[in-house]
Amino acid sequence: MVDLASLTVALDGDDTLWHNEAIFQKTQRWYEDLLTDHGVSRDLIHDALIATERRNLSLYGYGIKGFTLSCLETAVALTDQSLPAESVLAIIDRCRAMLEESPTPIDGVVEALTFLGPRVDQLLLITKGDLLDQERKVAGSGLTDHFADVHIVSEKDPATYRNLVSRYRIDPSRFVMVGNSIRSDVLPVVEIGGHAVHIPYHITWEIETVAPSDIGSDASAAFVTLDSIAELPGALNRL
Ligand SMILES: [Mg+2]
Repeated sequence: MVDLASLTVALDGDDTLWHNEAIFQKTQRWYEDLLTDHGVSRDLIHDALIATERRNLSLYGYGIKGFTLSCLETAVALTDQSLPAESVLAIIDRCRAMLEESPTPIDGVVEALTFLGPRVDQLLLITKGDLLDQERKVAGSGLTDHFADVHIVSEKDPATYRNLVSRYRIDPSRFVMVGNSIRSDVLPVVEIGGHAVHIPYHITWEIETVAPSDIGSDASAAFVTLDSIAELPGALNRL
């Protein structure tokens, strides 16, 4: 059993502390409605958009601006370059509106952070995406005061986590990452010898999903999955 007071507990932002994917999926349904009016099937739109996002990810990174560009690129391609300018503008307006949505904390988050704050060594927030947008969401969430530090990173891979634990001079065995994504919050942390707590969100962006067969048995034994963040204090006590 690990002493709670010796742990650095880091939490993911999108879909762990506040709702995010639901906003994207709402826009995506609107986008599919728009393009089906141009005679394209919903399935084709869905698959083509994901393929474009995947292709652009290493250049655009994660976030609404990259999503906007991928929506436009896909729409132009699927309509054989006949997409009217008014539809281009409608897509831009709709995506820009996503940048103005206030983040809503997920149920139980404030209670869990309030409980853990004074009991663990430090609480960190580690989120990935566009700097400006993530800063806006962190500030708008009203949760900043719970965290010793906030890190906005462009990718959550083993190198990112290794850099963070070495910057804080902590042993990975004292580091716990909590998040909704197996790909970003769990597997890379397990790989560097840290603890990971998986709290699934009810929907997951396709690019963040990992097939159960791709999680090795060693890795799946190395992290716990919870139904909600309310269970986090108990899970940390059992590490
Ligand atoms: Mg997330």
